[in-house]
Amino acid sequence: MQDYYKMRGLRQSLISKLRSKGIRDERILSAFWDIPRHYFIDKEFAHLAYEDIAFPIDSEQTISQPFTVATQTVLLDIKENDKVLEIGTGSGFQAAVLAYLGAKVYTIERQEKLFKKTHTLLKSIGYERIRTLLGDGYEGSPRFAPFDKIIVTAGANNVPIKLIEQLKEGGVMVIPVGVGDVKKMWKITKIHGSKLKREIHGDFSFVPFLEGVNSL
Ligand code: SAH
Repeated sequence: MQDYYKMRGLRQSLISKLRSKGIRDERILSAFWDIPRHYFIDKEFAHLAYEDIAFPIDSEQTISQPFTVATQTVLLDIKENDKVLEIGTGSGFQAAVLAYLGAKVYTIERQEKLFKKTHTLLKSIGYERIRTLLGDGYEGSPRFAPFDKIIVTAGANNVPIKLIEQLKEGGVMVIPVGVGDVKKMWKITKIHGSKLKREIHGDFSFVPFLEGVNSL
């Protein structure tokens, strides 16, 4: 993996764009500076790496738009050593941002081919602390639960109850929810037991949150 002067320039303008769209958290903006997004995508898309857009990765999936990654990360409000479950590893970029902020990250992907590719990539870049899991995000990860934070990076029709159960009291889940392609970003805080608080933060597009594992 190589970083280039040109890529750093493009990164700087992406950060300005994120600022102009309202992202103010300096630690999160630093993550966008220190983590080269072009490492997480195929070479033929490298020239697009620092555009504020989503585009294809493997297995017909997409890498989330930078503004979406930034917004979900702001809402999660990561603290050092937070135990975080991510549903939808995809390219691994969002997981890298969470790890950069000091989280212990567990990330689940249902596409086996993509899971293997991203597992290898994250190790090769040096994200030893990110635990990649192959599985169905609807089940969460009972083995590593409970979590301080849960982030779903695929578009859901509803909030899986198992994920709420795997959240600690006082924990936060950020999940795009709705019918159709455009989802509302929900921030759910687990007050205690089944008492939840919900805030809604804008419209975002995602690939669908699908059940089961795809081993093709
Ligand atoms: N966080 C990713 C976003 C990838 S797109 C990134 O930074 O690039 C969403 C991903 O969610 C896809 O890779 C898709 O395969 C995965 N996904 C969808 N439903 C899932 C499920 N039930 N369990 C685990 N992963 C799922």
